[in-house]
Amino acid sequence: MSLILVLNSGSSSIKFQLVDPTQHATDTPFASGLVEQIGEPMGQVTLKFDGQKFTTEAPIPDHSAGLDMAFALMGEHGCGPKDVEIEAVGHRVVHGGQIFSQPELITDEIVEWIRGLIPLAPLHNPANISGIEVAREMLPSIPHVAVFDTGFFHAMPPAAALYAIENETAGRYGVRRYGFHGTSHEYVSQHVPSLLGKDPSKVNQITLHLGNGASAAAIRHGEPVDTSMGMTPLAGLVMGTRSGDIDPGIIFHLYREAGMSIDEIDNLLNKRSGVKGIAGVNDFRTLREMIHNEDQDAWLAYNVYIHQLRRFIGSYMVALGRIDAITFTAGVGENDRFVRADALADLENFGIQIDPERNAAPNDGPREISTDKSQIKVFVVPTNEELAIARKAKQIADNL
Ligand code: AMP
Repeated sequence: MSLILVLNSGSSSIKFQLVDPTQHATDTPFASGLVEQIGEPMGQVTLKFDGQKFTTEAPIPDHSAGLDMAFALMGEHGCGPKDVEIEAVGHRVVHGGQIFSQPELITDEIVEWIRGLIPLAPLHNPANISGIEVAREMLPSIPHVAVFDTGFFHAMPPAAALYAIENETAGRYGVRRYGFHGTSHEYVSQHVPSLLGKDPSKVNQITLHLGNGASAAAIRHGEPVDTSMGMTPLAGLVMGTRSGDIDPGIIFHLYREAGMSIDEIDNLLNKRSGVKGIAGVNDFRTLREMIHNEDQDAWLAYNVYIHQLRRFIGSYMVALGRIDAITFTAGVGENDRFVRADALADLENFGIQIDPERNAAPNDGPREISTDKSQIKVFVVPTNEELAIARKAKQIADNL
């Protein structure tokens, strides 16, 4: 069996999976793990393999040491690069700007292009590049492929992609809507036509990726026509710790009146806002427990979250004119039946009716949760970004 190594490198972490690209979406990957707390006094590497979990702890000064330790731990348990056949490495890259619409075979030149996009994603692209550089050094003889989170939204119509900001300034600084979670929206939306039994070229749909980060997409005949994230992943829906859409005037107000620096406001909106900003927690399991215990802040945070979600669903129904399906995915979307029910409550007049029993039934796979009468079908389709990245990387590797 040949496997694809999928790497998702963050500023202080590396998520890795060894994936058989022919596996089913709900199968556990061949091996998976996480390198955490890179650059902190103590770091940790976890590996899940063969139904077991292994951990090592040691300081991890940089990404290179992190990947080294991950490979060593995998080697100890018989799933390292020397033990299994790795056909290619798929790298998740957050920002592909206006340059990249498709996955790319990584060369020195491609790395430089990704580096050039750092101003658009100062937190993400540098970490992605570290991961790419280290992995290319360690596995020099196999193809490395970059898969961009923005790629799917590359050809969005100008009316949705452009902000109403002075042309010249916007153009010079790359200010436009790029959209993120593209791999997930693409993967999930491609699954929906078969659930509907319809030709993909005739399906209009809304996909809702509700995880710690959250975004919505409107997709016509397989092509995205709008999405909620913007130039950065801060825009759109209320998220775990991110505010989503706010009046941009709030930034000037906080700068002038609260004396906050731009970096402080950046931190506030990205890390201390969203559900966490109102309720103090960002995990929906904890939020749900707090709501159950009648915590008023948790209830309020939940209502703000749902209100914003419904706003986007409504506007995408109008943008698409006619829709066949609405699909929930990611941690919250796949697991929290209350979110699904509340997001689409009281929309019978619009042809949407959730079946409470189907919605509550425990199930891991893709499934319908609307009633047979519902004109617009509602689905849960588990996302699997790693598998999607692995398949894209394999496709490029096979065509070399
Ligand atoms: P993701 O970013 O897709 O990994 O989603 C992570 C989020 O999903 C967590 O922060 C939780 O809020 C949420 N989540 C995961 N499992 C559950 C669950 N069983 N019920 C409700 N929310 C969940």
